[in-house]
Amino acid sequence: MNIVDIITKKKNKEELSYEEIKYAVDNYLNDIVKDYQMSALLMAIVINGMSDEEIYNLTKVFIESGEIIDLSNINGITVDKHSTGGVGDKTSLVVLPLVASCGVKVAKMSGRGLGFTGGTIDKLESIDGFNVNLTKEDFINQVNTINMALTSQTGNLVPADKKIYALRDVTGTTESIALIASSIMSKKIASGADKIVLDVKVGKGAFMKTKENAKELADTMINIGKRFNKEVVAVISNMDYPLGYSIGNKVEVKEAVDTLNGKGDEKFTKLCLTLATYMVHLGKNMPIDDAFDLVLEKYNNKEALNKFYEFIKYQKGNIESLELSSNKYEVRSNTNGYLTNIDTLQLAEFVNSLGAGRKTKEDKINYNVGIILNKKINDEVKENDILCYVICDDKIDLNNVVNMFEITDNKVDDYNIVIEIEK
Ligand code: URA
Repeated sequence: MNIVDIITKKKNKEELSYEEIKYAVDNYLNDIVKDYQMSALLMAIVINGMSDEEIYNLTKVFIESGEIIDLSNINGITVDKHSTGGVGDKTSLVVLPLVASCGVKVAKMSGRGLGFTGGTIDKLESIDGFNVNLTKEDFINQVNTINMALTSQTGNLVPADKKIYALRDVTGTTESIALIASSIMSKKIASGADKIVLDVKVGKGAFMKTKENAKELADTMINIGKRFNKEVVAVISNMDYPLGYSIGNKVEVKEAVDTLNGKGDEKFTKLCLTLATYMVHLGKNMPIDDAFDLVLEKYNNKEALNKFYEFIKYQKGNIESLELSSNKYEVRSNTNGYLTNIDTLQLAEFVNSLGAGRKTKEDKINYNVGIILNKKINDEVKENDILCYVICDDKIDLNNVVNMFEITDNKVDDYNIVIEIEK
């Protein structure tokens, strides 16, 4: 077998076997297959796609490249959640305590942010003292004791995906349903949970720009799950605009607390309640309506909020410590009308430029900076009204920020945050 034949086969739209995929991936991990050869193969996959069998085999080969987490010492069914990445996406911080307070076990491994999307681990690390590096034993004991734990992904979880993902990022080969689905599902399956709820984002601030593509990605991931005997539900949700009203790290932790306290943004709260409902539905084998009632009860009686505090304390975090940078600038409207669009990607890049995110893995994050939105889509805006607050350390040029908010004479159609559920 040789790599040039494998690349040529995919270029000619032929189906690769398990052995051929394994040869390419394993030898890339061992530096025998070179970056330029793997890039050529990835580009052939992006252009010609993969069959269901090839996608399953690629996922299998990815999983086999590293450690598979054994959660069998956790009593009961474990449910995991994954978001395909969004701007202001703090859903895990709200959903996990909701689910854990309903008695469902969640053992979640999360990553750090890269590019325009934030990472849950970074948000948690913004809490003073919070430990994101649990030992396997502490991780499992914690789930058995308080129903939830969240830790940083171990270095050896799907190393093949780690290396290939970095290459895709710089070779224009990220946008492939086969590659995205196998990348995400290999990590979810290797993380060991019994059942999985996926939050598949669609819109201007997401990988998938159309509903059709998002559905195809969701169905592909559900099918991979079936082949590995994992029940998967996918919630397709809107990512045209930032989620909730804050983007950053500490600001998003604060918003998660507000949301669990019943003071969150209506659409963001709805998304969290929906994701939690499907996790409880899977974890307890409970009809959807009953699962929703249970989640709502724990949200209304603040048991989920108390579960969040318990979780933060258990991982040694001090929730009282969420002090933001001292400068708070106001961005004001220069016109009258309705807020009908927010340039989500530009806003995310702006927040990153304040120090909230990284350009390279080595960059240090400033946890104290961020943006707090003061207007929602279709809110009436008067000249000089505050559109958002920018929280930062240094004096900055705000002139461009106002242009990220589109204000027009007429409202736009309202949008649903939850677009569709795929099973
Ligand atoms: N998230 C991943 O883990 N992999 C992808 O390919 C895209 C999003």
